[in-house]
Amino acid sequence: MARPPQSTASPNPVTTGGPSEAEAGGILTIDLSAIFDNYRALAVKVMPTECAAVVKADAYGCGLDQVTAALSRAGCKTFFVAHLDEARRVRKLAPEAVIYVLNGFAVGSGPGFVEAYARPVINSSVELAEWDQFIATSGWNGGAGLHVDTGMNRLGLSLDETAAVAVRMQSENHGITLLMSHFACADQPRHPLNDQQIRQFREIRTLFRGTPGSLANSSGIFLDPSAYCDIVRPGAALYGVNPTPGRPNPMKPAIGLQCRVLQIRSVPRNATVGYGATWTAKRASRIAVIAAGYADGLLRAASAAERDVLIAGKRCRMVGRISMDLLAVDVTDLAEGAVRRGSLVTLIGGELDLDTVGAQSGTIGYEVLSSLGHRYHRVWKS
Ligand SMILES: *Cc1c(COP(=O)(O)O)cnc(C)c1O
Repeated sequence: MARPPQSTASPNPVTTGGPSEAEAGGILTIDLSAIFDNYRALAVKVMPTECAAVVKADAYGCGLDQVTAALSRAGCKTFFVAHLDEARRVRKLAPEAVIYVLNGFAVGSGPGFVEAYARPVINSSVELAEWDQFIATSGWNGGAGLHVDTGMNRLGLSLDETAAVAVRMQSENHGITLLMSHFACADQPRHPLNDQQIRQFREIRTLFRGTPGSLANSSGIFLDPSAYCDIVRPGAALYGVNPTPGRPNPMKPAIGLQCRVLQIRSVPRNATVGYGATWTAKRASRIAVIAAGYADGLLRAASAAERDVLIAGKRCRMVGRISMDLLAVDVTDLAEGAVRRGSLVTLIGGELDLDTVGAQSGTIGYEVLSSLGHRYHRVWKS
């Protein structure tokens, strides 16, 4: 019986990045111990299946270097990224790890894969031919994933193409070290496509005996264990996004965002706030102007939606359009003095978790995370 990967003690530093706390418009806190715990919880849940980690897009905006180091300490041995350059960064932090590059192999990228000791995920027959040519001419045998499409229709070889590869594998060696596919609807457990994808993947795997298989993303881990195969590939759940929408979130929150009040303004009844004058004060109002905007990842499309911030434990509504560096919040109902110039207000944290913020912004927690700006003072707690 395989044991869960063993963790090693964390050195426990707090690292910071970006402008100083005093200068920044906001403070982004990334709780690496929560990411560590989320990884461990998933690793234990899927045992004896291996738990990899997806750290593409700067580890979903949380900081690829810090997150890779924390996940390595948690026992993670296989990482998935989207780009070769992300693989290079993972390699620096995780010298022994297996690294797969989901966006695949491009002509001319061979030497980059060799240098990073990374494995491309081959996503089409054309890519496979180019990969074959590269390994034939270079003699490289670092391995590659093979992506079979089971219903997502995004990347991957068709079932027929994949079956043909399996036949040819008896005489040709493509260096395939992983057969993978990807769920389209794993966050909707009753969606019929899930069972179809599990079934098709199981069938195609019978042609690849001895090659490890990988199908499940975060939400896939909360479907039937028949989705686990040999390696699962969670991303969002590690960072605290709920992999089971509509049910209580089994993951720990890992992100907090607090932003600074630049000033409190008195706005008379019938006056408007912000670009386009889209919000009109129906009463004499107090408006807090906050030092963060769409350049910091606070999606402008959210202005039209109903978006809250937490101030002194109370929900207050954003008003008017979000601008590039600023947004406005109606604080009329707060006690005088509850919020003042220099106060910090919560944009992500507490009841404003990533999924709530995503819904209020007309998007999903994934996009909130991967949009997190780079002007914040960043604090990685471990
Ligand atoms: C991004 C991605 C994942 C991780 O998905 P989550 O829903 O964030 O867990 C897994 N596999 C592939 C192919 C991906 O592109």
